[in-house]
Amino acid sequence: MTTVPYFARKIFQKDNVTFAIEWNDGVISDYRLSELQKRCPCANCVDERTGRRLVDEATIDEDVRAKRIVSVGRYALRIEYLSGCSTGIYSFDMLRGH
Ligand SMILES: [Zn+2]
Repeated sequence: MTTVPYFARKIFQKDNVTFAIEWNDGVISDYRLSELQKRCPCANCVDERTGRRLVDEATIDEDVRAKRIVSVGRYALRIEYLSGCSTGIYSFDMLRGH
C-alpha cells in the first residue's frame, strides 16, 4: 500500500511526437502525444455520463505535436497540441496508470 502520490519530477521532450516523464520514484515513462490525445478526458472528447468517446480516433493525427505542456498544480498536466483538442487535463494518476 502506497500513500505517496505520484508526481512528475521532470518532463522532457524525446522527439517531435513523444515526451517522457520522470516520476518521483525514479521511473521514466514515455508517452506518444497522439495516444494521449486519443484518451483526452475532457467533456468534448468523452461523454461524462456514459464514458463513450465522442471523437473518432481516426481523425487524430498520429504525428500530432505539442505546442507546450503545462503543469496543473501538483497533480496533472495540460497538453496544448498543435491540432485537435487541447482542453484535457491529464492527472498524474491517469498517466502513471496507463
Ligand atoms: Zn478533449
